[in-house]
Amino acid sequence: MPEGAPVRGGAAVDNMTVLANDNRACGICGQRCQLRLDGLFDDRFGAPGSFAIMACAGCGLEQTWPRPSEDELKELYERFYNAGIRSGSAYRSLRERFFTSGLYRLWLKWDGDMGFHGRRGAGRLLDVGCNEGRGLRLYADNGFQVEGLELNEQAAAVARRLGFPVHTAALAQFRPAAPYDVVVLANVLEHAWDPVMMLAEVRRLLRPEGEVWISCPNASSRWRRVFGRAWINWHVPYHLWHFSPVTLQEVLKRAGYEVASLKTYTPALWMAQSLCVSLRAREGRINRVMRSAPVAAGLTLMARAMVLPWFRHLNRELRGDCLIVTARPREG
Ligand SMILES: [Zn+2]
Repeated sequence: MPEGAPVRGGAAVDNMTVLANDNRACGICGQRCQLRLDGLFDDRFGAPGSFAIMACAGCGLEQTWPRPSEDELKELYERFYNAGIRSGSAYRSLRERFFTSGLYRLWLKWDGDMGFHGRRGAGRLLDVGCNEGRGLRLYADNGFQVEGLELNEQAAAVARRLGFPVHTAALAQFRPAAPYDVVVLANVLEHAWDPVMMLAEVRRLLRPEGEVWISCPNASSRWRRVFGRAWINWHVPYHLWHFSPVTLQEVLKRAGYEVASLKTYTPALWMAQSLCVSLRAREGRINRVMRSAPVAAGLTLMARAMVLPWFRHLNRELRGDCLIVTARPREG
């Protein structure tokens, strides 16, 4: 589809209040965006609507278009995302057993640690979007004094039953008793309605010498080219922003940070999920192949053992699927 041509919109798109997107202005810098890819749909949970990826001519940041309003996002999460995640019980129980096993620590060394679950340290750590507390348990085992922030009350209650303090305030309203040494944003920033504002709020929570640990999909990944529309990390309409090493650094700079380290991994599970979408994804349907425990486990192991060893160089060239960034508040 040529650039500048009208973008198709499905039912959900037509019904959405589309903020600045009507004039295709960048949600970060306000400059005009141009079409990169269209015809994307929710290939996991079956929410209606057709979406596109636009790239800002100013800052280069790629963004999902149209960007749902905050109210629409709330409904999308409740009706499709959370409901979809609850539905795969065998898949979930397999995942939980794996994450709580000793095998998981070995797997992190082999596959890459996109949740920062292998990092040891000390001090106060806040996991933003801690869900049911799987990460909290691992961070605590690694030496941190942990707390979680989770808007989903049910998930927060599960994490509290594990014995961890979990806050349910929105980030902007959250006022902790003391600042944190580490704030974790593991696969969170790409979901944020305003990532610069989210990072600025996180900065407020950090000690001056504290760190934010960010993982998110890498829009410069070579696997994006390989899988095209089936690349799992488009994940529309839930992923609103598609960061590359360059654009994430720009967003961090705007929010008052300097980057201490940046690297990429390609998690085998993500590759397996892209394969699942390539094999079977239909608009308006939940992708049951992806939530099948044997299929997910089989494809993940296959990707890890047979495919990814050939492509280690992509991670070194910052062309892996997942960006891993440590950033610190800039002085002054
Ligand atoms: Zn921009």
